[in-house]
Amino acid sequence: MTKNCKKCGKEFLIAKQEALFYEKKSLPEPFECPECRRNRRSGMRNVRKLYPRRCDKCGIELQSSYPEGVSFAVYCEKCYFEEVS
Ligand SMILES: [Zn+2]
Ligand SMILES: [Zn+2]
Repeated sequence: MTKNCKKCGKEFLIAKQEALFYEKKSLPEPFECPECRRNRRSGMRNVRKLYPRRCDKCGIELQSSYPEGVSFAVYCEKCYFEEVS
């Protein structure tokens, strides 16, 4: 069965098992396409992808929008402020 997303208007498919699942749990069927649901769940629209990587200075683990291997150094917050001050 297909539905139209209430948010972006795109048509999306609800699999039979999925529909049964909602029925069994007496949950309302989704009214948003999977993409919009995912966006809503993450709480943000246009989320930038974050890569787990390490600070190029102290080696602490951090989340950056730049993956490891980019041509410039990526610092953690602490090192960044040390660097700019
Ligand atoms: Zn949508
Ligand atoms: Zn650091």
